[in-house]
Amino acid sequence: MEAIFKKELSKEELEELFQSDEKCLEFLADVKWNEGFTCRKCGNNNHCPGKTPYSRRCTKCKTEESCTSGTIFHNCKFPISKAFYIAYTVCKGMDDVSTYEFARRLSLRQMTCWKFKTRISNALQTMDSLSTVERSSIEKILSKQNQ
Ligand SMILES: [Zn+2]
Repeated sequence: MEAIFKKELSKEELEELFQSDEKCLEFLADVKWNEGFTCRKCGNNNHCPGKTPYSRRCTKCKTEESCTSGTIFHNCKFPISKAFYIAYTVCKGMDDVSTYEFARRLSLRQMTCWKFKTRISNALQTMDSLSTVERSSIEKILSKQNQ
């Protein structure tokens, strides 16, 4: 999660990510296995492709890991590209977007956006290496959540 948003992305890269679920998965897989694959179960470093796009499967114990597991995008019930858009906007504190506004922009239900935003905020709070600015923008988000 942290790694994802520490990465600097160009406007073009972002636009591509916000429009394509496939690109988002590819991006997540890149970040997640940046230093190579290690099976969570047995520690093996060899993998073959899993059943779902961009997932990896341990060649030894056959445990499959999706590129979203362990991230805020895990079990996301709406398109990941939309989730990405919300996450990026919230994390970067780029602009103060309400969940109603997210819902309008992304054609999602407000409750869906609200739930996801809450998930992001909770994840962000547990990060250690946040700067003061990042932290204060998250606190701002949290205090507005009931609106
Ligand atoms: Zn394994």
